Amino acid sequence: MKEKTHPKYVDAEIRCACGNVIKTRSTKPVIIVGICNACHPFYTGQQKFVDTAGRVDKFQQRMVKTKAAQAEAATRKKKH
Ligand SMILES: [Zn+2]
Repeated sequence: MKEKTHPKYVDAEIRCACGNVIKTRSTKPVIIVGICNACHPFYTGQQKFVDTAGRVDKFQQRMVKTKAAQAEAATRKKKH
């Protein structure tokens, strides 16, 4: 490897919003993430949200509206 063309490769910590810390090596000493393998619903099998911006609420509200619209469309089709 050529000198000075590569950034420093140091011991790093990946810190998740859930409190999990993963030791690795990177060019940055600290990496902050919002979700990791310890808290992602895919791995935990649980619906546990670290949502603070209300995006999940908005999504769920949209889901309710969509289901209502779908039910309405289904009943309309049956009448015809
Ligand atoms: Zn996590």
